[in-house]
Amino acid sequence: MFSQQPYVVRMFRKDGANIWLELRETPMYDDKGNLSAIEGIARDVSDRQQILLALHESAVKYRRLFEYANDSIFIIDPQTHQILDVNENAAKQLGYTRSELQKRKIDQLSPPDAAARNGIIFQELLKKGSVLYEQVHQHADGRLIPVEISSRVIESGGKQVFQSFVRDITERQIFIDVLQKINEELEQRVEERTAQLRSSEEKFRQLAENIRQVFWMTTSDRTQMLYVSPAYEEIWGRSRSSLYHAPDSWIESVHPDDRNRVADFIAKQCQGEHIREEFQIVRSDGSTHWIGARSFPIYNDQGEFYRIAGIAEDITDRKLAEAEIYKALAKEKELAELRSRFVAMTSHEFRTPLSTILSAAELLEYYSHKWTEKEKKAQLHQMKSAVQQMTQLLEDVMLIGKSDSGKLPFNPERVELKDFCQVLVNQLQLGQQQHEIVFNCQELQNSEVYLDKKLLRQILTNLVSNAIKYSPEGGAVLLEISKDEEWVIFRVIDSGIGIPAKDLPNLFEAFYRCSNVKAIAGTGLGLAIVKKFVDIHGGTIDVRSEEGEGTTFTVKLPGSADG
Ligand code: ATP
Ligand code: MG
Repeated sequence: MFSQQPYVVRMFRKDGANIWLELRETPMYDDKGNLSAIEGIARDVSDRQQILLALHESAVKYRRLFEYANDSIFIIDPQTHQILDVNENAAKQLGYTRSELQKRKIDQLSPPDAAARNGIIFQELLKKGSVLYEQVHQHADGRLIPVEISSRVIESGGKQVFQSFVRDITERQIFIDVLQKINEELEQRVEERTAQLRSSEEKFRQLAENIRQVFWMTTSDRTQMLYVSPAYEEIWGRSRSSLYHAPDSWIESVHPDDRNRVADFIAKQCQGEHIREEFQIVRSDGSTHWIGARSFPIYNDQGEFYRIAGIAEDITDRKLAEAEIYKALAKEKELAELRSRFVAMTSHEFRTPLSTILSAAELLEYYSHKWTEKEKKAQLHQMKSAVQQMTQLLEDVMLIGKSDSGKLPFNPERVELKDFCQVLVNQLQLGQQQHEIVFNCQELQNSEVYLDKKLLRQILTNLVSNAIKYSPEGGAVLLEISKDEEWVIFRVIDSGIGIPAKDLPNLFEAFYRCSNVKAIAGTGLGLAIVKKFVDIHGGTIDVRSEEGEGTTFTVKLPGSADG
């Protein structure tokens, strides 16, 4: 049996490494038309396979997080409001099956008057990228469920969709209702302690003592804490009495990054505004927790704003789940981009040398009988250099693959840096006349360092070749070396086309090329390799560039001669 289609198999090499081979089988027939042999061609496709596997893994991870999240998650189409996907929790919360939900629009889950709000909220969501809001969802049995929704715009399958985490806040809502009733009763406490009051106070206490949210009430100027529930001690890790003593002492735990925002919303609270915020606290045991806080004003019979009540809860789990999901998605996106850049680059960069080879071969086939030996040689030479170009490209791709999987050997040794660089500069200068490569090592006193020669040669060659290539007008390219106690510092300076600011963030990604390269050829692998090699040394690379003015790359490698 043979397979008409190429197929991929995984093999173990003798040294234990995993490789993937693509096998193609072709049947061969004898004169009588009987199958006599099968010709097989195997091609190493490990790089492609690794990218595919990584993509698959991150997609699987995203799916797992999506399925097992504690919250209900909806994926919604921004234009049609159609529900594209939901997790099991969402279906359970609303009493539908998943496929029933996937046939609906999100608006159909809310009573008619609430549905109108979605349009406005979704517009805000598109503008801001994320919103937190409350909505009412309707259970399959008709029951209304108050929910809190945290929505974000994400990219999925190449288009923008909404991802909404939905949390049932029925418990919280009951709490608020009871709170409002209790407040009225608290009012009368000074005057008369009726039996009815005691019973509702009891009801209130039972609820407050057992709920996992912090419920609190202060005077409208926040100078007096009237009540705070025991959950405060659990969530904040501080005593309730400290709050009765100093009502704003909880702010001491707020993460420094969030202090200003918290101060702002406290000022708004005192002006009687409704507040909904999320912020972080750092507990005395050093752990960081996310808090979701809501507060609202309370008015007395005369309509005067005289109290503030609020609820705070620990939302760390949800925040972590959200962060994990975004991380998995970002990884997936990054890999998908890498894959598409890889495909674009290979189809372009392989096609050029391949068409050179093809046309040289055709010329040889049809005209070689008329040609001199010298002319034939010239064609063969062209074919050879096209093959070399492709081999180089493949080697670069393999190099990236190897350094990604940590398989690249790192062999630091003593290097006499001045001599090493001088030889390299001479070699690079030989290759071309249009540019002068100026080597400056005046600031280098002791020139002995401890580095991997092979990797260093590649780093400098790539940077200097770029400096030359991207200075089409010619001129000088400068290689400067200096050293301090810790670092050996290399600077490669050119006054070429420069790098547009918008391209800087992606500069070191494999296959990335800047928007101003025009016809200058390249694969976008050089800098990705440089970055990997610098990382292996435990060094840093930094770039400064002005479009049209020139570029300076600075590489710092730890290079004390004592190793
Ligand atoms: P190759 O893999 O053949 O080196 P390349 O030069 O395009 O191809 P990199 O060396 O990785 O790839 O550089 C990535 C991109 O960064 C380049 O395509 C170019 O746009 C930009 N770039 C790199 N060095 C310079 C420089 N000195 N001046 C201006 N642009 C540069
Ligand atoms: Mg390059």
